[in-house]
Amino acid sequence: MPGLYFHIPFCHKACTYCDFHFSTSLRTKEPVLAAMRKELRGRIGELQEQSLSSIYFGGGTPSLLGTKELGLLLDDARSLITVDPCAEITLEANPDDVSAGSLSAWRSIGITRVSLGIQSFSDQRLRWMNRSHNAEQSLRAIELVAQAGLASWTIDLIYGLPGMTIAEWDEQLTVALGHGMPHLSAYCLTVEKRTALHKQVATGQISLPDDGRQAAQFQHLIQRMEQAGLVQYEISNFGREGHFAKHNTSYWQGVPYLGIGPSAHSFNGTRRRWNMANNVRYADGIAQGAVYWEEETLTPNQRINEKLLTGLRTMWGVELASLGETFRTASKAMIQRYLALNELEMRDGRLILTRKGKNFADRIASDLFMPAP
Ligand code: SF4
Repeated sequence: MPGLYFHIPFCHKACTYCDFHFSTSLRTKEPVLAAMRKELRGRIGELQEQSLSSIYFGGGTPSLLGTKELGLLLDDARSLITVDPCAEITLEANPDDVSAGSLSAWRSIGITRVSLGIQSFSDQRLRWMNRSHNAEQSLRAIELVAQAGLASWTIDLIYGLPGMTIAEWDEQLTVALGHGMPHLSAYCLTVEKRTALHKQVATGQISLPDDGRQAAQFQHLIQRMEQAGLVQYEISNFGREGHFAKHNTSYWQGVPYLGIGPSAHSFNGTRRRWNMANNVRYADGIAQGAVYWEEETLTPNQRINEKLLTGLRTMWGVELASLGETFRTASKAMIQRYLALNELEMRDGRLILTRKGKNFADRIASDLFMPAP
């Protein structure tokens, strides 16, 4: 079953490392939300009347919207398409937006899962990241979310920070695990162009841990999660049974989804489409019936490469037969090489990364890529 994604392009502050599309000004909020409702009405047919298994509010900072604004988008979706009674409906939330009142309001409109952007439990790190919350708010938010009666919840953490040691990372994980989280997304800090972080690194103000230290922190993460009984079902995602993210898993498994809002991406199995990452141009484009998106139709080789890139990151890997005879012939030697290096394994006809291979997921996938087109 397909999923529906709403991109809410507003944030309280600009985080140092972030290159997602957002604005810290709410000036365009009303026209953007009106345009999103119109876009949803105009494009819902692309899902071909299948029912939705997941709805995801991402951003940006969706928790910055009022419950009424979120509820209108959900009501529109429900009036236009069947939403599975067991659908996962996720809201990304910043800790400073979480209160007993907001959680109760979110539940009342049907939110079943909250994803908390914690990132760190250290005030010093949070200040450096220019996050809008502090560590105390993070801990309070986790306590409230854990008691809110949601079907599931998750937190985000970042490792690979400048000067971070294994001991510091271990302490972060201990705090997180101490609060009984059922799911964790942990990302290694990456330097994206056009971010404050990029400038700091380019001018030599800071340097990030080298690959070896980042890999050691990644392996430590895997070890701590294993010990705590959380399954690494995707490179950066760990969950207890029954708490794996449905929306993201569908994405990694190539299930179609419809993305609504500025910069949102959509995929229908063969075609990718992405909206303008500009609030004014997006809203004006929709209001005036102009083109506000770009798209590409994937070639057979591009579809194979997508399957490799996303599928190999999951614990289910990629079914070799589904990649076709041409791929199997072209990649035979490379697959053998990675099997011999113990970075890939073959299980029940599926190519799966080993624990060692998880350190090199993107490189292995790209080595197996079919040539364009
Ligand atoms: S809150 Fe999230 S989307 Fe907004 S700037 Fe920070 S990392 Fe980016």
